[in-house]
Amino acid sequence: MLGESYIYRDRTLYCESVALDDIVSRLGTPCYVYSAGSILGRFNAYHSAFDATPHMICYAVKANSNLEILRLLAEAGSGFDIVSGGELYRVMKAGGSPSKVVFSGVGKTAEEIAYAIDNDIHCFNCESASELVLIDSIAARHRNRVRVAFRVNPDIEAKTHPYISTGLREHKFGIDFEEAEAVYQRALSFSHVVPESLSCHIGSQLLDTGPILEALDKMLDLVDRLRAGGVPIKTLDLGGGLGVAYQDGDVAPPIPDFIREMCRRAATRNLEVHIEPGRSIVGASGVLLTRVLYRKRTGEKEFVVVDAAMNDLLRPALYKAHHSIVPLREAPERGAIVADVVGPVCETGDFLARDRSIANLLPGDLLAICTTGAYGFVLASNYNSRLRPPEVLVDGAGWRIIRARETYGDLIQEEI
Ligand SMILES: *Cc1c(COP(=O)(O)O)cnc(C)c1O
Repeated sequence: MLGESYIYRDRTLYCESVALDDIVSRLGTPCYVYSAGSILGRFNAYHSAFDATPHMICYAVKANSNLEILRLLAEAGSGFDIVSGGELYRVMKAGGSPSKVVFSGVGKTAEEIAYAIDNDIHCFNCESASELVLIDSIAARHRNRVRVAFRVNPDIEAKTHPYISTGLREHKFGIDFEEAEAVYQRALSFSHVVPESLSCHIGSQLLDTGPILEALDKMLDLVDRLRAGGVPIKTLDLGGGLGVAYQDGDVAPPIPDFIREMCRRAATRNLEVHIEPGRSIVGASGVLLTRVLYRKRTGEKEFVVVDAAMNDLLRPALYKAHHSIVPLREAPERGAIVADVVGPVCETGDFLARDRSIANLLPGDLLAICTTGAYGFVLASNYNSRLRPPEVLVDGAGWRIIRARETYGDLIQEEI
């Protein structure tokens, strides 16, 4: 599944107006490429669908935290959803405003909370009563009052991969729906937190918006009950989670329809609506370019060995995720094969595709692994002492390196 910015012209794959093999001839492989047009198009689709509803779009930094991507979104007016002090540092380095930052995560440390309070972030999405106690005590030391939301777990099955489903009672995230009112009442008794927001996030890669809308309805009821109990809720944060199409047959929910339906349901409550999309903004913008090193056969199986591996793109190994793989130069006359596409890492789990019907590739051929703009580079590691790949941002007919390829020196830099 090629993202909206990718198209073949004269049998050559382009990102916007740039032929991808031009990037390879300058930078080599493996290499991540992102389309600025795709990212901004999706951000603006969210933004314009909210229309007159007061809102804040907090891009989930963990999906792709490259400074230039953050800068692009900050300039477009985005806020940010962070899950660590490091992500706050990145947002500020990229010119993002802490006043548009919400801090999520089940294990915030005292240092991270202090750092976020020092920088006056918009809100903490608090995940437990003991975190609330810590936030209140740190805020008191800083002579500050900070906004908090509780992340409430609506106990709704998100219908996605179990590792990225987060909204059931058995998951580690958030506080129980039934306990929410008591926890908010407790928060009212603290003097350095202002509980004026409510948040939830039920999971990721949701192709069916039914469960999010069901969660929304539960949250709206809870808003009513909290307000009736004297908690002045002003904001509802519905998290992220909208999916993208990774393979034929996946139909991604259209962003405008989803947001308009959300706004329609929330309309009478006089709420500011926040969302935290990650994947649906950057996922389809990216490809990972790789080169075929070898073809080999063992027993009954055909393998295509490429120079990208699980250290560059972990999703297939971690979630058995499907990414379609296409050649940079179409050669239909060569026919197709069924093969595993694997990398050089010494793990059987190091595969990018299994039993995949794919072009009859030859060593030297260049491939694009599609829809890798989200949870791609951010999950890359140096396993097997491999260098993490460079990242490139395409904008119209131009492109630039937004992260250099690592060097052998980088590998040992921190080992004193
Ligand atoms: C991961 C995450 C998101 C973003 O999820 P996507 O599926 O990438 O949109 C938003 N909010 C929270 C709290 C998250 O953990």
